[in-house]
Amino acid sequence: MTKEKRTIHIALPCTGEEEWQACKEPLMTGWLTSGPKVRQFEGDFAKMHNVDHACAVTSCTTAIHMALAALGVGPGDEVLVPAFTWVSTANAVLYCGATPVFVDVDPETFNMNPTDIAHRITARTKAIIPVHLFGLCADMDAIKAAAPGLKIVEDGACAAGASYKGVFAGGLGDLGTFSFHPRKSVTTGEGGMVTTNDPELGAKLEILRNHGASISEEMRHHGAKPYLLPDFNVMGFNYRMTDLQGAVGVVQLKKLNAFIDERAKWAQYYKEQLAEIDWLRTPTEPKGYRHGWQSYPCFVDEDKAPMKRNDIMEILKNEGIATRPGTHAVHMLGFYAQKYNIKPEDFPGAQASNDFSMSIPLHNKMEKEDFDYVIAALKSIK
Ligand SMILES: *Cc1c(COP(=O)(O)O)cnc(C)c1O
Repeated sequence: MTKEKRTIHIALPCTGEEEWQACKEPLMTGWLTSGPKVRQFEGDFAKMHNVDHACAVTSCTTAIHMALAALGVGPGDEVLVPAFTWVSTANAVLYCGATPVFVDVDPETFNMNPTDIAHRITARTKAIIPVHLFGLCADMDAIKAAAPGLKIVEDGACAAGASYKGVFAGGLGDLGTFSFHPRKSVTTGEGGMVTTNDPELGAKLEILRNHGASISEEMRHHGAKPYLLPDFNVMGFNYRMTDLQGAVGVVQLKKLNAFIDERAKWAQYYKEQLAEIDWLRTPTEPKGYRHGWQSYPCFVDEDKAPMKRNDIMEILKNEGIATRPGTHAVHMLGFYAQKYNIKPEDFPGAQASNDFSMSIPLHNKMEKEDFDYVIAALKSIK
C-alpha cells in the first residue's frame, strides 16, 4: 500500500485571526506594557482556576523564581524538586541562592514519587515544587502527607485547566505557576502566571514583578501624582508581561476548555488504537483527575520492543512523524550531574523516564487522518 507521506509536528500552537486582531488595540492605544489586557487576562485566569490572585509574568521559569522569592526562599534553604522535569524547575531554586534537592519520579505517571520524599527532608528544607508533568496533576494528597509543614509551589507549566479531586491546578499549594510557551496548550508566545489564594503573597507578587515598586505603573499613571516615582522597599525583578501578550492570552484562554476536551478525545482514541502494541505504554488519566493533555507521553518497554526507543524515534522521523523524549532527567544533565556529583542510577525512576519515555504528536491542529497515520506507523514497527 502506498500512502501519502505526512508531516506531523509534536506540537503546534493554535492561534490565528482572533489572536492577530486582539493585538491591534494595545498597538493602537500605545499601552504596551502590563495594563488593561494583562489585568483582564489575570482576572479570567483566576476565575477559570478558582483562585483569588493571578499575576502574569514573562514565563513559567520566572513565575517559579518569583513564587519562591515571595516565600522568602534564599541561601541556606533547600527546595525539593522532581528529578524528571524541565530544567528550569531546578534552575529557579538556584536563582534564589537556595539548593535544589531531587526527588525521584514514578515512571507510571512521570510525576514525583511520594514515597521518595520523607527521607530527603532536612532541617533546611523550606519548600517543595510538585510538577504536574504533561498536564497530569501530581498526587497532591500523598505529597502533602509526606511533606508536612513545607511550603508548596506547584509547577503547573503544562497544567492550565487541569484538576485534581475537583480542585484546579494553581489552587493545590501555596502558590501555582503556569507557562504560555508555544509548546503548552494555550500560548502568548512566551509568558507565565503565578496564582495564590493568600492575599499577602498576592500583594508581594505584584511588587516583586515590577522591580519592587510599591505601586504598579498603571496605578501611578492614573493616580493623582503620576509625576512622582513610587518607593522601592524590596529588590524586585522586571517580570512584567506585555499587554500584547495579555490580549492574546484573553483570546486563547476562552478556547482552553475546548482544546483540552478535544485533546482528551484523541488521547482516548490513541489509547484504544494503540492497546495492541505490547511494548508501548500509553498514559492514563486516574479517576478524580482532569488531565490537561499538554502532550501524550508514552513509555517504550525495550524488553518487549523490537528495537531501542531511539531507533523507533528515527523510524517515525523518517515517516514525517515528530516524537520527543517526554522531557529530561535534570540530575543527568551535565551541569547538575557535575555540580552535585550525582549518578544517573541515583534516581532510577527519573533515569528510566529519561531513557524510555516517548511523546507522540498531540495538538489541536491534528485531524483524524493524522492520528490514523501515527497509529499505523507505530503498528508497522515490528
Ligand atoms: C515548559 C516548562 C517549564 C518552563 O516554562 P517557560 O514558560 O518556558 O519558562 C517549566 N516547567 C515545566 C514542567 C515545563 O514543562
